[in-house]
Amino acid sequence: LRMGAADPDDQHVKVAVRCRPLNEEEATMNAAEIVTVSPEQGTIVLKSKKRGDPEKRFTFDNVFGPDSKQLDIYNICARKIVDSVLEGYNGTIFAYGQTGTGKTFTMEGVRSIPEKKGIIPNSFAHIFGEISKAGGDVKFLVRVSYLEIYNEDICDLLSKDMKKKLEVKERPDVGVYVKDLHQFSVKSAEDMDKIMTVGNKNRSVGSTKMNSHSSRSHAIFTITIERCDQGLDGKGHLRMGKLHLVDLAGSERQAKTGATGKRLKEATKINLSLSTLGNVISALVDGKSSHVPYRDSKLTRLLQDSLGGNSRTVMLANISPASYNADETHATLRYANRAK
Ligand code: ADP
Ligand code: MG
Repeated sequence: LRMGAADPDDQHVKVAVRCRPLNEEEATMNAAEIVTVSPEQGTIVLKSKKRGDPEKRFTFDNVFGPDSKQLDIYNICARKIVDSVLEGYNGTIFAYGQTGTGKTFTMEGVRSIPEKKGIIPNSFAHIFGEISKAGGDVKFLVRVSYLEIYNEDICDLLSKDMKKKLEVKERPDVGVYVKDLHQFSVKSAEDMDKIMTVGNKNRSVGSTKMNSHSSRSHAIFTITIERCDQGLDGKGHLRMGKLHLVDLAGSERQAKTGATGKRLKEATKINLSLSTLGNVISALVDGKSSHVPYRDSKLTRLLQDSLGGNSRTVMLANISPASYNADETHATLRYANRAK
C-alpha cells in the first residue's frame, strides 16, 4: 500500500479548458475549425494554420468541447470548491480567455434559463441547498460583494458611488479585505440573484462611454460564508470561508491594435495583472518558489489569502474553435498550460 499516492482530487490548483461552439455568424461563413477536444484523454489539439507545420497538443485536468453542459462544468470544476468553502476554506474560480470566448457565459450564463445558468447562479443554489440540509445545530451567515478592477483601480459595483476608489487592507482576524466595500447578507438564491443584477447594471453604466469596458476590467463576485457549529461541549465553533468568482479581462494582446495614450496605459495594466496572475499560479503549482509575487497587481493582492495554502483554485480557460482566432487560442493554451 502506497501512502500519500497523489489523488488528483487533492490537487489544490486545477486547470480546465472549455471550447465554445462556432457562433451563428461563423457557422454561416463556414469558418474553419482547428480545435479538437478529447475529454477522455484531457487533451486539446490545435491544428496548425500552415500546411506541414506540426499540430500542437496540450493536456489539462479537464477539457470541455463545444457541446459541454453548464451543469457538467459546475459539477466537475466548481462543486468541490464550493463544498470546501462551506467547510470554512477559501476558494477562487477564474474565467480566463480572449473576449468573446465564453468567460461570462461560463461564470454567469443566462440566469433566466435553467440549463444555461453558469457557475455563479449554480453556486447560489448549491450553497442554499446545503444550508437547508444542515440541521439546526449549524448556523450560517452568507454575505456577498461585487467589485471591479479597472486600470488597477477597485470600484464597488454595489455602491451608489461607483467612482470611489477602494483600497486593499489586511487584518489578522479577517485576512485580506477591501476597505469600505459593501457586503450584503443574503438569505436565499433569489437574494443573490437580485444583487448580481444591481451590480451588472452598475458595470454597464460605467461602460456607456466605452463599450469595451467590460472586456478590459476584472469582475469579482465574492461569497463569504460564516458558520457556527454547536460543539459537544455546547460551545459554538466559528469558521469562515470565502469564494471568489472572477470574470477576468479579455486576454487578447492589446498592443496589436496600435493603442496609444489612455488605451495603451489600460492595455499595459491588463497585461500586468494577467501576467502576474500567471506568475502567482505557476509559483504555487511549482511549490518550490520561495517568492509568490502577490503584491505585483491589485488582483493577486486582493486574492492573496484565497490562492495557495489551504485554498482551492480553478482556472477555466475559454477558447474559440475558429481558425481566425488561432493565435489568441494558442496564447491562451500556453498560459493555461503554465498554470498546471
Ligand atoms: P466573454 O465574456 O469571454 O467575452 P461571452 O461569455 O460574452 O464571452 O460569450 C460570447 C458569446 O458566445 C455570447 O453570446 C455567449 O452566449 C456565447 N457563448 C459562449 N460560450 C458558449 C457556449 N459554451 N455555448 C453556447 N454559447 C456560448
Ligand atoms: Mg464577458
